[in-house]
Amino acid sequence: MNIFLNENSVTKCSIDEYIREIDCPVQKTMIEHLFFDAMEFLETIRKSALPYPDKPLIKITKGSTQFLQAIDGLIEIDTAFIQLCFTNKEAPLNEIINPTLIGEPSIKSTPNILFCWALAHEYYHGLRKHNLATYDISTTELTSHALEMDADLCATAALYRWAQTNISSIYCDTTIRKIVFASIFWGINTLPKSESNETHPSHAVRIYQILSKLIQIRQDKYHPADQSLSTEEARNNLSKMVDFMHECYVHYLAQDEITAKKIIGEIFQHLESGEYKLVIREWERIKTLVSICSGTRT
Ligand SMILES: [Zn+2]
Repeated sequence: MNIFLNENSVTKCSIDEYIREIDCPVQKTMIEHLFFDAMEFLETIRKSALPYPDKPLIKITKGSTQFLQAIDGLIEIDTAFIQLCFTNKEAPLNEIINPTLIGEPSIKSTPNILFCWALAHEYYHGLRKHNLATYDISTTELTSHALEMDADLCATAALYRWAQTNISSIYCDTTIRKIVFASIFWGINTLPKSESNETHPSHAVRIYQILSKLIQIRQDKYHPADQSLSTEEARNNLSKMVDFMHECYVHYLAQDEITAKKIIGEIFQHLESGEYKLVIREWERIKTLVSICSGTRT
């Protein structure tokens, strides 16, 4: 029986039910790995929050209008998004980072970062209780963008910490930051609808904010992020990561000139207009409230 079309017209199922229904053994194994990595990542996020929040509740949908969404603590993933994660172009990490130049081993295949990061983004909407925050703050388009930024930044920081835990014995801190940035960069650029809309900022804005987070987050997790770039560490990150973002665009441009040109144009337009400061200011305004509501830090 097709679990998506049973007599109750149920369009949602559990991860296990979804995997059981896959006929192709190769695809079944790949999807099992996809979820295994992502669930391991979400578990590290859960265990980093005190007191431990509930485990994420996940359902698979088919034919939903949304790739992914978080509704009252439930994360819904559409099968179209799972397919997209399989077919998307992953970052050519060894080409753009070239770790062997500094004596590090070449980068083996990483977990599917787009899938892991996107799930973490949805999990953080729940953990950070964004729905509660919206009861207390008027929800303008700017506020929606700031809440998306909050989820993006939390997911990015968590991914950096996860990578740090797993590969810091092999790669230096800069390489880890680059792996995280490039993987999210390629992932976001795969998603359709790159323009800003009433709920989400444009891809260009999101990428810029993610880069900022990876510049400001401290290697020592007990030190707060350096938003004013007052430490040498953050200033070093700034010069290396801005150059690296440029490298990513150049590489992406070679693969997909039209999209890359459009995005680069948007980034510069965004920086020139100073519009990004409005979202950051709004985020600064709401992040304290979000932290109080949820008992978590950004
Ligand atoms: Zn979101």
